[in-house]
Amino acid sequence: AEQSYDVVVVGSGGAGFSAAIEAKEAGKSVILIEKMPAVGGNTLISGAEMNVPNNWVQKKLGIKGDSPEIMAADTLKGGDNVGDPEMVKVMTDKALEAAEWLRDDIKVSFIEDQLFQFGGHSYKRALIPEGHTGAEVIKKFRKKAEELKIPIKLNTTATDLIQDKEGKVTGIKATNREDQSISYMAKDGVVLTTGGFGSNVEMRKKYNSKMDESYMSTVTEGSTGDGIVMAEKIGAGLTNMESIQTYPVCNIETGVISLLADTRFDGAILINQEGLRFVEELERRDVISNAILKQTGGYTYQLWNDDINDISKTMEAHEGEYDELVKQKLIVKADTLEEAADFFDIDVKQLKATVEKVNQYAKDGEDKEFNHRGGLVSLEKGPYYIEKAAPSVHHTMGGLIINEKTEVLKEDGTVISGLYAAGELTGVIHGSNRLGGNAITDIIVFGRIAGQEVGGK
Ligand code: ADP
Repeated sequence: AEQSYDVVVVGSGGAGFSAAIEAKEAGKSVILIEKMPAVGGNTLISGAEMNVPNNWVQKKLGIKGDSPEIMAADTLKGGDNVGDPEMVKVMTDKALEAAEWLRDDIKVSFIEDQLFQFGGHSYKRALIPEGHTGAEVIKKFRKKAEELKIPIKLNTTATDLIQDKEGKVTGIKATNREDQSISYMAKDGVVLTTGGFGSNVEMRKKYNSKMDESYMSTVTEGSTGDGIVMAEKIGAGLTNMESIQTYPVCNIETGVISLLADTRFDGAILINQEGLRFVEELERRDVISNAILKQTGGYTYQLWNDDINDISKTMEAHEGEYDELVKQKLIVKADTLEEAADFFDIDVKQLKATVEKVNQYAKDGEDKEFNHRGGLVSLEKGPYYIEKAAPSVHHTMGGLIINEKTEVLKEDGTVISGLYAAGELTGVIHGSNRLGGNAITDIIVFGRIAGQEVGGK
């Protein structure tokens, strides 16, 4: 069977929806293909915080001095200057416009008076969607796609790119759940937005032997690198494939990211089995993950109190996760440190000494041991929460090489005509390490560009 559209978009995460909506609004006929039974990809299950310099919440909170240039510098430095400065500049220059588009056109609700400062960022600049997850973003994207009458084909896996005699990409081959094969032809172009390869262990090992089955992953089972493999087969260049990020604080049984533990951005501390801090809690994800793996058992405990949660409000946002952790005995709430420590058999004496030091550093406004960049918060008052956690594979920084128009490039730098890509399957932005809150900025900015470019803007 064969169907024809102007534009075929493969993968329905944030990048795919952004591309499909822009192309449709440019007057094109568009279809969105998704291999899973539901839309959303990792965008859906992420916290979906979005770094935006000079955003409206910064203005409201009186945070001054941020700029696209400073965010670009943070991003490049956070990725060991492996990212492409030109592409990073595009991302940070267009971040505000993309966020306003999400707010005004897609009707995403962002929390009006709260921002996150993820590790490696010089400012609190991450907008938080209502509910602190991507559910808000994907729900509104679906609604918009419905309004625009963009057909979404679920349970349909793209397997190959189709090219004409000149090598221009003119469509995709796909298979549905009944194993029927269908060709979706694209007059103007194909946009690949299939996400990363975090749940493809073989592919992880092929590019980085350390990222083997000993790591669980935070990502959905759809993240198997399909778009990267399909494009490579027709000559696309790959870059930075060995850079695979672990998220430091995840469920030790399931690998799932702990969003409840976002209290870390507002003062929660990390300790080991011996009751000692061992890393700055706002360090880069790779630094924290590696530090955790060096501790007894290869795990950490995160400790906070209600004063910290009053700032971060994650307990309210992630009640379901809290209940699940209680059931799994991976979190304890207790009035005293003794009681909390006892639950996990943590060295009480050392823990109390650690907390006393933290309280002193909070008072002094200076963390003399680890130089916490956000400033520590006093843990004098209980009740206390202690959550056990470990790192898990989270984001694959490498992937396809694209240019500023999101055209996919060959190894030699020439354009593969008719093929565009945006989102986690591209490899040029984040370098060796992606900073928190930068994925949503990346996928929305470049997803929109892909849709506009293929839409003939
Ligand atoms: P991004 O953050 O880059 O938008 P996501 O992980 O949020 O990436 O979304 C990628 C989506 O692409 C997921 O929903 C995933 O199931 C889908 N996908 C992956 N491979 C294929 C494929 N071969 N065919 C169709 N959809 C795919």
